Amino acid sequence: MAELQFQDITKLYGDRAAVTNINLTVPAGSFTVLIGPSGCGKTTLLEIAAGLIHPTGGQVLLGGRRLTRPGPETAIVFQHHNLFEWMTVRDNVAFGLRAQGVKRAARRSRANKLLADVGLVEHANKLPRELSGGMRQRVAIARALVMNPQVLLLDEPFSSLDYQTRRVMQRYLLAMWHHAQATITMVTHDLDEALMLADQVVLISGSPGRMIEVIPIAIDRPRSPEDPRLKDIRSHLRHHLEREAVLDEFTAAEIAALDREGVTADL
Ligand code: ADP
Ligand code: MG
Repeated sequence: MAELQFQDITKLYGDRAAVTNINLTVPAGSFTVLIGPSGCGKTTLLEIAAGLIHPTGGQVLLGGRRLTRPGPETAIVFQHHNLFEWMTVRDNVAFGLRAQGVKRAARRSRANKLLADVGLVEHANKLPRELSGGMRQRVAIARALVMNPQVLLLDEPFSSLDYQTRRVMQRYLLAMWHHAQATITMVTHDLDEALMLADQVVLISGSPGRMIEVIPIAIDRPRSPEDPRLKDIRSHLRHHLEREAVLDEFTAAEIAALDREGVTADL
C-alpha cells in the first residue's frame, strides 16, 4: 500500500476544464470514495491516477514519487467488465502475471488464491459469458489485484448490478481489500455504497469538477445502513447531491446571480 496524492490537478480538454485544482490525499491503505454529479471529472481523476492520461496542471504522487505512466503499482477496474471473453476465468485473472514472466504453476496457484477470495474457484475453468454480472466484476477485481498493486482504482464497478448483488459485492470487496492491503479510490453514484465502504468521502461539484469537501467516516466495518451514526452524514451528502443535480440545470452565470441573491443557500 502507498499514499496517493493529487496535487493541484487540473485537466483541460481543449479549452474546457474537466477538473480544476484538485488537492486530495488518499492515505496509504485507506478506502476513499469520490462522489459527484455525472460529468464532474471522476473518471478523469482515476485515469490520471492510473497514469493513463496526463493532467494539464499539477501532479500525482504515489508513495511520494511522481506518477507519470501506467505501471504494476496501480490497477483500475471500470464499470463495464473488460474481461477477455475467449479466456477462461482463471486465465483472465492470471493474465498480468504471464506478461511478467511468472511460471505457469505459480500463475495458476496465485490466480486460484484470488478466485478463492471472491468465491469463484469452482468457476475457474468457465468462460466469462457463463458468469453473472456480479461474478464477472469479481473476476475483474481479482485480475486487478493479481499484480499486488499499491493502489486499486474502481470506477463505478457495481453500478450495473442490482441492489442485492451490490451489497454482496461490497462485502467481497472489503474482504479483498483486507487481504490485498491496497489503497483504494472508488467512484460510486450510490450513497449507501459510499457510507458502507469509505474511510473518507470526497464530494466533487459539477462542471468543472472542483473539490467541495472531504468527509471522514470513522466507523468500523462491516457497517449497517441503519447505523444511527451514519444518519447525519447521509443527509449531508444527500443534500449536496440534490443541490448539485438542481444546479446542473443552470448555467454558471445564472448560479452566480442566484448566489448573490442568496437563493442557492436554500436549494
Ligand atoms: P465523470 O466520470 O464524473 O462522469 P468524466 O471524467 O468522464 O466525468 O468527464 C469529465 C468531463 O470531461 C465531462 O464534461 C466530459 O464530457 C469531458 N471529457 C471526458 N473525457 C473526454 C475526452 N476524451 N475528450 C473531451 N472531453 C472529455
Ligand atoms: Mg465516469
